[in-house]
Amino acid sequence: MSLFALSCNAQSKKGVQEKQNVSEQVYDTADYPDEVVPIVKSADEWASELTKMEYYVLREAGTERSFTGDLWDNKKEGTYVCRACGLALFDSETKYKSGTGWPSFYAPIKSEYVGEDTDYKLGYARTEVHCARCGGHLGHVFPDGPKPTGLRYCMNSVSMDFVPKEDN
Ligand code: FE
Repeated sequence: MSLFALSCNAQSKKGVQEKQNVSEQVYDTADYPDEVVPIVKSADEWASELTKMEYYVLREAGTERSFTGDLWDNKKEGTYVCRACGLALFDSETKYKSGTGWPSFYAPIKSEYVGEDTDYKLGYARTEVHCARCGGHLGHVFPDGPKPTGLRYCMNSVSMDFVPKEDN
């Protein structure tokens, strides 16, 4: 994890919220809107607000290396929000140990808060998952998760921010 933080620190630091690396908390509160109103920004706008790694994963559907993110082993109570727009995505109550090295959940906070697409990047169909508000790529969902849903939302740490419960 420290190596990853170092490599991120070495990247150019820009962004309206002065993010230094992926482990710095950006959002103080999680956003739970009644209605998801799409946020549309140009590639240049996103690039000015995200680190290079965040941009690569969120806007170019990249994947962080497993066990390198800052949230896969996070055991605190709280809310996982979209790194790009702050939308509440996952509650810590649905997080479980998948052994993959990526933060894994069995359900989103609201189905309306995440969108899905079919991704053939690896030559076979996978279900891609993105933030329903800003379109930021989060990861994929697989049908091998635990009860009660049987789903495994396999997310990138870098696509999310964590808001501890006491801050909600
Ligand atoms: Fe978002």
